[in-house]
Amino acid sequence: MAGTHIKRSSLASIADSLTTVRERIATACELYNRQPSDVRLIAISKTHPVESIRAAIDAGQLNFGENQIQEALQKIPAVKTPGVQWHYIGPLQSNKTKHLPGNFRWWHTLNRIDIAARVSNKAVELGTRIDALIQVNVVNDPAKSGVSVEGLSPLVEQLLESRLNGLNLRGLMTIGPHGGNETALRQCFGDLRKLLETTRGQFGLTNFDQLSMGMTNDMEQAIAEGATMVRVGSAIFGSRK
Ligand SMILES: *Cc1c(COP(=O)(O)O)cnc(C)c1O
Repeated sequence: MAGTHIKRSSLASIADSLTTVRERIATACELYNRQPSDVRLIAISKTHPVESIRAAIDAGQLNFGENQIQEALQKIPAVKTPGVQWHYIGPLQSNKTKHLPGNFRWWHTLNRIDIAARVSNKAVELGTRIDALIQVNVVNDPAKSGVSVEGLSPLVEQLLESRLNGLNLRGLMTIGPHGGNETALRQCFGDLRKLLETTRGQFGLTNFDQLSMGMTNDMEQAIAEGATMVRVGSAIFGSRK
């Protein structure tokens, strides 16, 4: 957590781990004919202290993700570095929506119209906008949040009808099947890519081009299927308690 002190040696290893993750991304891009510049690495710093985030910044990392508002609100002001962008990747209760605009540039877990309206209204109030991704529960896992595949198109329709001027609808996000094999992972991520394409076409959306998918254990499969953002935590910062 923020405020704890960690050893200099583990801070040095964050730079090494980042190098290794960047190499994994580059290798996957080469294998699947992708440009590394088209795959944004988001370092998921949840549960890790500000010192670890600073070590990653020193090693050139600028995109970070958090999944709890309270924790993020402690860390974000402590890491004021030009160019750093924060991504919110956790579930969001309606009483926390006011904290997103102004603190986060990206929101990966939009899945309800009422929550989206609250976030948008706050952004408008602050004179800002937030880039939003709709989380889709592609594998229909009751333990995961996100709109169902069937619910996606009705949700987009509601979002567009509501004219939420504080949100830029930028694409889709999913979490791959836990412990899934190669085939199951590729299927899930490929399904999300197809959903992105059909949704963009159906509603004539511009700039609806982001796919947030892939984590420490499945970033290669996600890159193979077109990920433009991978959310990587433990491979960079070590395991979480
Ligand atoms: C924690 C988390 C990650 C990162 O997971 P790792 O396996 O540590 O890379 C990615 N996405 C979401 C939504 C998470 O909650």
